[in-house]
Amino acid sequence: MTADEEFLTELRGLAREFGDMLSPTALTVDRDPGQARMLLDSGLPWRQLMGLPAEYNPDPLRVGGRSVYLDKAVEQVTVLEELARVDAGAVLALPGPSMSGFVVSELGDRAQRERYFGRLAESPTWTFFGMTEPGHGSDPASMSTTVRPDGAGGYRLTGTKRFVGNGARAAVGVVFARRRSGPLGVCAVLLETDRPGFTGVPLETIGLRGLQLSELRMRDVPLTDDDLLGRDRSATRQGMWAAVRTFNRYRPVVSSLALGVAQAAYDYTVAHCSRRTIDRLAGFEGRLRGTRALVLAAARAADRDPADGTLASAAKIRATRLAEELTLEAVECFGPGARWDHPPLDKYVRDARAFEFMEGTGTIQRLNLAQAYLSGRLDDDRAA
Ligand SMILES: Cc1cc2nc3c(=O)[nH]c(=O)nc-3n(C[C@H](O)[C@H](O)[C@H](O)COP(=O)(O)OP(=O)(O)OC[C@H]3O[C@@H](n4cnc5c(N)ncnc54)[C@H](O)[C@@H]3O)c2cc1C
Repeated sequence: MTADEEFLTELRGLAREFGDMLSPTALTVDRDPGQARMLLDSGLPWRQLMGLPAEYNPDPLRVGGRSVYLDKAVEQVTVLEELARVDAGAVLALPGPSMSGFVVSELGDRAQRERYFGRLAESPTWTFFGMTEPGHGSDPASMSTTVRPDGAGGYRLTGTKRFVGNGARAAVGVVFARRRSGPLGVCAVLLETDRPGFTGVPLETIGLRGLQLSELRMRDVPLTDDDLLGRDRSATRQGMWAAVRTFNRYRPVVSSLALGVAQAAYDYTVAHCSRRTIDRLAGFEGRLRGTRALVLAAARAADRDPADGTLASAAKIRATRLAEELTLEAVECFGPGARWDHPPLDKYVRDARAFEFMEGTGTIQRLNLAQAYLSGRLDDDRAA
């Protein structure tokens, strides 16, 4: 085993212990996502798991003599898969930077980083990443949320974002909006949710309920230059540039959550079903191992270069499909009434279906792979 493999094995072992702490709250938070604060008292060292940059995290996890800030995709996929093996909804319901933090790291100046990460380091703070809109999804070409000059040196933000994780409970986040027409006209805005004109409303959902998907409504929300991320950069290095890199960076993480749910369904069935019916799961063990290797490779690639999302798309397709198929096969193993008699299994089935949409559907991932193939990037990935 290489030193790196040893490190990741030790990190995974530690994460498995943390995962056990999520077990008592899993069904409660699923029933009532408003109870997410319970997670803060679960014993889980959530401050160390948030992925804050080193300068904002004076007390990181220590594994194999190393400080682990959990700000690298490789570390996140290892730890979050183990937590998702108990409750994927809870993983997403924890306070912390997540996707918007990556945008702030990529585009924010010193003051914006301090405003965002300083606040998160101080107290439990939920954040949001506002891209998707009602009517035209996450396609940036038809984005209709706008930032317009207010005639007095500032701006006004107007529009609606839908299916935004943690939106109704967040204190700060990033909204993508259009300043001009065309793909280079999209900018990223750093925004506190207590501004006038901003409302976050929870949506009723079936899967990953802990995440509390929300609708964000913004009506003439006042902005200043200080809210515009990357304002001093060229137009090619602003909103859409950061959004694409963020998707590439976080798809391996979503894949690890899907993998965790798949593994949970497998483990649950093996523990509670008869030997004869478990035979139906033959073949899934190998797929779980293979998908884990692909997710890790995608995470390494994302840490190396978040501009290339080829492996990230491949991992997301594979992990999502595995979670969907394995959870359904698990239900078949138990037979009629399975989801009624086994609430954790019912939750795995519901949670597994949300991953298809998070950070782009399977169709979008396949388009990414086709583009990578046509441009020869698949060969580069194989060589790496
Ligand atoms: C659990 C969960 C968490 C989420 N979290 C967030 C969040 O925090 N922030 C946020 O902004 N959004 C979030 N989303 C929204 C998510 O990003 C979108 O659902 C996703 O990007 C797809 O958008 P859509 O659902 O509007 O589908 P659309 O983009 O409208 O797509 C509809 C259908 O058309 C297909 N399609 C789209 N474009 C093409 C194309 N070019 N060629 C061929 N087919 C195409 C798609 O595959 C799909 O089948 C979340 C969604 C879920 C389920």
